[in-house]
Amino acid sequence: MRLTLTAAAAILLGAHGLFAAEDDVQVLEEVAGGPSAALYPANRPPLVPSPLVKLPVGAITPRGWLRSQLEIERDGMTGHLAELLPWCKFAGNAWSDPQAKGHSGWEEMPYWLKGYGDLGYVLKDEKIIAQARRWIEALLATQQADGWFGPRELRKSLEGKADLWPNMLMLNVLQSYCEHSGDRRVVPFMTRYFRWQLQYPEADFMAGYWPKMRAGDNLESVYWVYNRTGEPWLLELAAKIHRCCAPWSAGVANWHGVNLSQGFREPGEYFIQSHERRFLDAAERNYQTVMGTYGQFPGGGFAADENCRPGYVDPRQGCETCTWVEFLHSFEMLTRISGNPTWADRCEEIAFNSLPAALTPDEKGLHYLTGANMVQLDRGNKAPGLQNRGTMLSYSPGAVYRCCQHNVSHGWPYYAEELWLATADGGLCASLYAASEVTANVADGPTVTISETTDYPFSETIRLELSMSEPEQFPLYLRIPRWCPKPAVAVNGAALAVAGKPASYLRISRRWTAGDVLTLRLPMTLGVRRWVKNKDAVSVAFGPLWFSLKIGERWQRCGGSEQWPDYEVFPTTPWNYGLVLDEHLATRGLELARGLSQVSSACPSGQAETGTVPFRRLARQPFTPDAVPLRVTAKARKIPGWTLDRRGLINVLQPSPVRSAEPLETVTLIPMGAARPRITAFPQIGQGAEAHDWPVPAAPAFTASASHCWDSDTIDALSDGILPARSGDQGVPRFTWWDHRGTTEWVQYDFPKPREVSAVEVYWFDDTGHGECRVPASWKLLAKQGQAWKPVEEAAGYGTELDRFNRTTFRPITAAGLRIVVELKPNFSGGILEWRVGP
Ligand SMILES: [Zn+2]
Repeated sequence: MRLTLTAAAAILLGAHGLFAAEDDVQVLEEVAGGPSAALYPANRPPLVPSPLVKLPVGAITPRGWLRSQLEIERDGMTGHLAELLPWCKFAGNAWSDPQAKGHSGWEEMPYWLKGYGDLGYVLKDEKIIAQARRWIEALLATQQADGWFGPRELRKSLEGKADLWPNMLMLNVLQSYCEHSGDRRVVPFMTRYFRWQLQYPEADFMAGYWPKMRAGDNLESVYWVYNRTGEPWLLELAAKIHRCCAPWSAGVANWHGVNLSQGFREPGEYFIQSHERRFLDAAERNYQTVMGTYGQFPGGGFAADENCRPGYVDPRQGCETCTWVEFLHSFEMLTRISGNPTWADRCEEIAFNSLPAALTPDEKGLHYLTGANMVQLDRGNKAPGLQNRGTMLSYSPGAVYRCCQHNVSHGWPYYAEELWLATADGGLCASLYAASEVTANVADGPTVTISETTDYPFSETIRLELSMSEPEQFPLYLRIPRWCPKPAVAVNGAALAVAGKPASYLRISRRWTAGDVLTLRLPMTLGVRRWVKNKDAVSVAFGPLWFSLKIGERWQRCGGSEQWPDYEVFPTTPWNYGLVLDEHLATRGLELARGLSQVSSACPSGQAETGTVPFRRLARQPFTPDAVPLRVTAKARKIPGWTLDRRGLINVLQPSPVRSAEPLETVTLIPMGAARPRITAFPQIGQGAEAHDWPVPAAPAFTASASHCWDSDTIDALSDGILPARSGDQGVPRFTWWDHRGTTEWVQYDFPKPREVSAVEVYWFDDTGHGECRVPASWKLLAKQGQAWKPVEEAAGYGTELDRFNRTTFRPITAAGLRIVVELKPNFSGGILEWRVGP
């Protein structure tokens, strides 16, 4: 909807009376598409006209903290992945030599190159550009006569059908490269590949899990070429891709976190061809469906610790680093397609709050899952609280996460490319705010440069200074964030009476002159959000920033090399707090303090914000507990029952309000993006009848140990209460003695104090047809009395039946522990899925 609230008459003239009669100010709920000014490749007919158009990579030069993120990325993992991980080595890689065999020919290198190239173009870093060019030249040389490109193995790798997924990433690589270089080979290359796609049998097209879920990526590249060549058959291909894609138009087609973060938007992309609003609405509906259940905590993501799982909605679940960057990419795309400012708000929520803490401050490592409540980032197995077994939370530059390490590359570069967008009416739109400089064409062609100075989101003021050779009439669009009810805009010191409303664009069309300065203030206020779907937990926000408890950090190296270390991060200060909030006004009692960068570089006169703090610069890496320039203090009480589970995973929230007799304390909160161990969704402390007690978890009934346990299996499986469907069940945690074969092995429980026992039940693991574990040849049970292990007496049972518990009874005995001793079958190993001890 386009809503005009005001025009020239509503402008307050400043001292200089600078506004002329043709000045026009409008508040728009969305940017409208229209016949394009044709300065940049916008949607061609018959596609729905573009409201906002991406500028070619390189048009925007990021500055300030965003530039720092990119430079740190260059010096960190992304800039050095070719030295670190096997998939990005040039020699012998199936992307440089398409006949090469092995595992270098799938998504990893394309994931990395997709952001690595853009990192070079955005930073104008010649070394990276040259490295990326080497890969791109090799890629261009892989094209076959029929248009296929890339590793030959992929042509038939899905049961004889082509795996189109990795090529989707390479299409993105080529798009950015073309925008950067103007290389005339790229569009014909992509066109030949799309010809091949058009003739590929529809029954086999988008075969396989990943291609089908992520075909929207392919669709975007087809429209990119169409908008440059106008060849009508490309729209036939686009329709075919839409038909063969998973049915995201009909709802959430898949609950894998990364699939969701890419796939949900596909109908929004297809909207521009269908002209049916229901497709654009479907993308929003998919987003709401996911976030309405799984996104009920701060940070802009959702609970998908691989997949969204019914019941696992707690703020501890987190989502993959891949999910963060793909969600960003989707939101950026939908901002341009829809002209709706809310998508840009959603970008900022992730970029300021979640993405920075998914990485170490030096961007030399990342972790798989980043969530709103995570207090111990160790490498231990957190299943089944988290879905995946194995390390998910420790930071690593290495191969442990494989997808994220490569895919993270495009997060910051793409973000920097979307700060400014072209509008259909020949203007420019400040879509995402960060210090930068943009040089672009406006109106009917002249070039303008806008210098954006700000420390936003760590300051509220954004200063835009224009330069151009001749005065020029064109519109500037400013996004007003959804959280900002009272924006203030001044042009050359003259305040505008109407400066927009939350979730809108302010369109200022006037004859701009070199030296014009536009100042935008986006006042931020403290707010408290209650998560009614997540046990009534509460979170503190300030403008676009969420706040987390500041927790002392102990970084402990747990692998890697001196230069590229793996780290676990442990809390050194208490974290189990509930907030004490004023019952009438939740924000009363919260106090904001500004730190280092109080007066931003946007306001060198030192008059902004409070005007009393001396001029200090924002730290190069502001996303650390010490450098981040904002603090909130709040009242809180500890909740003794809120602990880590036996695997070091924070226990889930209990319903608020929560009773606590602990002393009232003052705690410090810092912006979420700077907090790696963090609590962001807090229980609220309460009293009276409606308050709940937080149950103190029972001490473990025993501790388990074994003669041996295979690395990726876990001794915790013995007693995790997760029962298998059968002995060969691959879907539940398990304990195995693998790779010991034919040996005598044991597993035991030690009780905290001697107890009477008279029966055990054992569910054996056996993966016949899949692996080399079998039920044991025989077994027996020993009981610990004093320091001695003795066989139990009158034992009956010792069964080894499949697909059920094997119950063994014996003469009741008071024991300090029980031990199962097995004789493994010759040449086979064995394992146990669950072991219960009865009275
Ligand atoms: Zn990943």
